Amino acid sequence: MADIGTLYIVSAPSGAGKTSLVAALVEKLPRLRISISHTTRDRRDGETDGVNYHFIKRESFVRLVEQGRLLEHAEVFGNLYGTSADWVSDTLRDGEDVILEIDWQGAAQVRRQMPEAVSIFILPPCLKTLEQRLRSRASDDDEVIRKRLAGAREEMSHYGEFDYLVVNDNFERALHELAAIVEARRLTTHRQAVRQAAVLADLLSGSETR
Ligand code: GDP
Ligand code: ADP
Ligand code: 5GP
Repeated sequence: MADIGTLYIVSAPSGAGKTSLVAALVEKLPRLRISISHTTRDRRDGETDGVNYHFIKRESFVRLVEQGRLLEHAEVFGNLYGTSADWVSDTLRDGEDVILEIDWQGAAQVRRQMPEAVSIFILPPCLKTLEQRLRSRASDDDEVIRKRLAGAREEMSHYGEFDYLVVNDNFERALHELAAIVEARRLTTHRQAVRQAAVLADLLSGSETR
């Protein structure tokens, strides 16, 4: 039997630190890949097409939806975002874990289709810190920051739909907590029975040593 990866959904209000945390997490743990979403949002300075997002026009996005090529999609702050269905299923089938950084609406759609997905919500320690982080990122103008702060409460009101809650106050601590979640899921009997099949077969073989 092949090892099938676990699908992780990570959501947070904009500026809570999910992109930085998830980037650090994949540096720390092997066999963990981030899904690159499609979006109609403008590219920020420092972002690269095909690395941070696949930046596409609205018409192309609508075509992907019509062709059924997105696992989920949602409109967030006036832009469309969506996850490639094929990439996610192919990567999981290869036995790698996949992380989706998506909003709560997308999380709800994925949960319905893949109830085995594990979802994590990241909270900022307080609203003042959230605002400081959005400003410190210095990539969005005032109007965009205002919109994102106003949307934070709506996003955060969905925390109860997630399996795990991580507060991103101290970065290293939050990173450690995320890694603990992934490592614990990798030790479930369901996955270990596949990965440790040879060990189990040997341990349970008839050759008695007593
Ligand atoms: P940032 O995450 O605050 O840096 O800002 P972005 O513009 O990159 O993302 C804005 C929102 O869109 C966030 O709430 C993301 O979680 C969400 N988002 C990004 N990619 C996807 C996606 O593929 N699907 C869905 N549903 N939401 C997404
Ligand atoms: P998101 O992807 O959730 O919008 P980012 O990862 O872009 O958030 O983080 C927003 C800003 O906050 C970035 O400038 C990032 O460097 C900073 N940041 C993230 N986590 C922390 C933390 N624990 N302490 C201080 N600053 C942080
Ligand atoms: P980005 O938003 O571009 O993914 O991340 C910006 C950078 O800030 C990343 O290198 C991330 O690791 C780093 N970073 C953000 N906040 C903290 C923090 O509080 N502590 C540490 N050590 N690194 C941080």
